[in-house]
Amino acid sequence: MTKKQFKAESKRLLEMMINSIYTQKEIFLRELISNASDAIDKMYYKALTDETITFNQDDYYIKVITDKENRTLTISDTGIGMTKDDLETNLGTIAKSGSLAFKNENELKDGHDIIGQFGVGFYSAFMVADVVTVISKAVGSDEAYKWESDGADGYTLEETTKDSVGTEITIKVKENTEDEKYDEYLEDYRLKSIIKKYSDFIRYPIKMDVTQKSLKEGTEDEWDEYTEEQTINSMVPIWRKNKSELTTEDYENFYQEKHYGFDKPLKHIHISVDGAVRYNAILYIPENIPFDYYSKEFEKGLELYSNGVLIMDKCADLLPDHFSFVKGMVDSEDLSLNISREILQHDRQLKLIAKNIKSKIKSQLKSLLKEEREKYEQFYKAFGRQLKYGVYTDFSSKDALQDLLMFYSSKEQKMVTLEEYVSRMPEEQTYIYYAAGETHERIEKLPQLELVTDKGYEVLYFTEDIDEFAIRMLSTYKEKEFKSVSSGDLGIEEDENKETTTSEENENKELFDAMKQILVGKVTDVRVSKRLKTHPVCFATEGEVSIEMEKVLQAMPD
Ligand code: ADP
Ligand code: MG
Repeated sequence: MTKKQFKAESKRLLEMMINSIYTQKEIFLRELISNASDAIDKMYYKALTDETITFNQDDYYIKVITDKENRTLTISDTGIGMTKDDLETNLGTIAKSGSLAFKNENELKDGHDIIGQFGVGFYSAFMVADVVTVISKAVGSDEAYKWESDGADGYTLEETTKDSVGTEITIKVKENTEDEKYDEYLEDYRLKSIIKKYSDFIRYPIKMDVTQKSLKEGTEDEWDEYTEEQTINSMVPIWRKNKSELTTEDYENFYQEKHYGFDKPLKHIHISVDGAVRYNAILYIPENIPFDYYSKEFEKGLELYSNGVLIMDKCADLLPDHFSFVKGMVDSEDLSLNISREILQHDRQLKLIAKNIKSKIKSQLKSLLKEEREKYEQFYKAFGRQLKYGVYTDFSSKDALQDLLMFYSSKEQKMVTLEEYVSRMPEEQTYIYYAAGETHERIEKLPQLELVTDKGYEVLYFTEDIDEFAIRMLSTYKEKEFKSVSSGDLGIEEDENKETTTSEENENKELFDAMKQILVGKVTDVRVSKRLKTHPVCFATEGEVSIEMEKVLQAMPD
């Protein structure tokens, strides 16, 4: 039997594809510019093996031209161009990527920069275009061809003329409708901002003729208009530069440019990894808590670039929750993107990068703690809560996070780490003691505190509601168990005489019974305590949940 080919309603297919793949119209420009950049890259690779071509950097650029009167937007490049055949196969077939074929043919596996691989980006132009016209002249060819389509009824292909090698793509911008606005794609400022946003790090200049106004000399309301060719993109991304070339100011400028925050970063982390997975990243620990940090609206995540092209504003998978305060970006050429670019496959590469980033952040925080204590304490004041939250919620991370925790110490009267606490413990001390309460002042008045501090032992003050929950999750640090000063057995009552306690309890039975009756429903028992020094009475709990924890649990919405 002969096999028949599927027939697809190409117009419907195109519509469906375009509308389901892209979430924003503006990315059409990113796609066309990345194709242009690919075309120039190909020229570069060709020049490596073809002696008749010399690659002179200055001759290679991308130009964006608007014509408001005719409602056209043109993206032209001085890249490798397309032959008649190329136009037919690459633009006439949806999901055909000439770039992928080029990479395969030339066995370009490593270190290359060509972005295209899915063969659909080009068609995104139809999101904003009534008609797309492509005029192209391939390198080594004398003929130029014109491909034209309205995205619905196929395309036409005819011979034309073009002076220089390269490709020129002209979009006839759609008219505004009630629901959809297209005029903005003819405005210089809008195009500039789209280029900045997505294509800032394309390695070839993206030029535009920008019209500017300046006050006529000697007048106050007369303007001179002049047009000037500007390069819109900054080309060399800071993350590809060598750390030694960069100053703290450069990193701070990048932080501001990217609007990661209004503050100055407390610390930057520049990572270049060239191993099982290759990526560059610039991460920041902010100085201040973003205003929405502890709200539902806050979204964690890093910017994700694939080879200098922005793929995602906030890739949440790159950051664990306990480091959600970290800002910054990651660029990798190794990501397997699925065809939408916007939806990443949850692949091995991304997971590897995320894991790597997590451990880098951790080690950088550790060195901040060790080398710049004051800065670390500032950081901890802002984001310590998040670390404790991580200990509480993420079992697998608690070992990694425990050394980053700090609490206020009764002895030192300042924040200390668990390591510092344990290193100061007298030999006979078994537990790490803590006391929970709303403020330091309140904790200091706790009757239960005295016995422990009188012994000369250090007590950690827990004033945040997450503290005790996190520590219970940790349960021990360096094999030392945590102990609340309010708990039944403090491990320092060896000299307590059980007999006297019982006899005192018997003698005062009537009094205790009367107290229990008055406090019925409020306390379960009234007992003699040996741990009180200058205070007449204290509360104690039995079992797992402390009084402080109970308060938190009761305050939580059901
Ligand atoms: P992709 O970039 O993923 O390959 P596109 O739909 O964006 O898919 O482009 C399809 C193909 O058309 C490209 O692979 C390339 O071969 C060709 N092409 C598109 N734009 C240009 C251009 N400006 N210059 C040369 N070839 C181009
Ligand atoms: Mg493309």
